[in-house]
Amino acid sequence: MSDILEGTPIIEDEERLEAVREVARSITARFDREYWLRCARQGLPMDEMWQALGESGLLGLRVPEKYGGMGGSIRELAAVLEIMCAAGVPEGSLLLTGFARVPILEQGTQEQIERWVLPTIDGQHRMCFAMTEPDAGTNSFNVRTSARKVDGGWSISGQKVYISNARESQTMVILCRTGEVDGKPELSLFVLKTDTPGITYNLLDIAQLSPENQYGVFFDDVLIADDQLIGERGKGLRYLFSGLNVKRRSKGTPDRRRRGTPFSDNMMLVC
Ligand SMILES: Cc1cc2nc3c(=O)[nH]c(=O)nc-3n(C[C@H](O)[C@H](O)[C@H](O)COP(=O)(O)OP(=O)(O)OC[C@H]3O[C@@H](n4cnc5c(N)ncnc54)[C@H](O)[C@@H]3O)c2cc1C
Repeated sequence: MSDILEGTPIIEDEERLEAVREVARSITARFDREYWLRCARQGLPMDEMWQALGESGLLGLRVPEKYGGMGGSIRELAAVLEIMCAAGVPEGSLLLTGFARVPILEQGTQEQIERWVLPTIDGQHRMCFAMTEPDAGTNSFNVRTSARKVDGGWSISGQKVYISNARESQTMVILCRTGEVDGKPELSLFVLKTDTPGITYNLLDIAQLSPENQYGVFFDDVLIADDQLIGERGKGLRYLFSGLNVKRRSKGTPDRRRRGTPFSDNMMLVC
């Protein structure tokens, strides 16, 4: 198991932070509000901007340098998102991919990191996360989508809802029920290809202007291998929330400070 995200510096290298901001500004100079609106109105992902983000290295933020990433802190990721939002071109895929891969980086094996995370650094792949279900929104313990142990792997059946970018992503991190322990649900996290046989997508018609589409996703006896379980069985929710913390912290208030330290580096999410 890897603990590679530990040790992220709390004291920022301000020069590096400014350099990251500069790269982000160069992206928003090329992809403006008109571009964002065109993609949003047509329900198209911002492919050109995504490629440019990959070429610039920004998709490698928070991925350790030894894997070809840029390393860096949540504050750097937040700074990039802040610049994009200020320019009117929020890039949801960056946020979604950025936190969906956290459990793999933190808990995955070397092989899992190479297979699933590395293609997200240069813009080849997007990643989505599938947690919410019709009866499991705020209360994730209600997750019913099951992963049943079969020979050499798992069979996933059930449904998820409001899954952003599900069809536009190549990789999905999914929370499934793998059993019960002491009368409580045992939830585990898996990673799979979005074109795995048995998965179907239903585009949701929701009132949101955004290049990221939302989907209902159905799983009918979807077979995956043993090495697609992330970390330990039964710890899926904990792993997923460590990624969600990154999302919420980077969408939060990066410039607020508590006792001289950026608020975003201290903040804990209580779920
Ligand atoms: C645009 C969009 C994108 C999304 N993208 C994703 C995604 O990529 N992946 C994913 O897995 N999910 C995604 N979601 C789902 C999102 O995480 C859920 O909507 C959220 O968890 C809330 O669940 P719910 O909608 O079922 O609301 P509910 O759980 O039904 O809650 C409805 C309201 O009741 C309140 N409430 C619920 N329980 C209690 C309680 N016990 N006491 C007091 N108040 C309570 C809630 O705070 C909320 O205000 C997305 C949703 C949206 C709208």
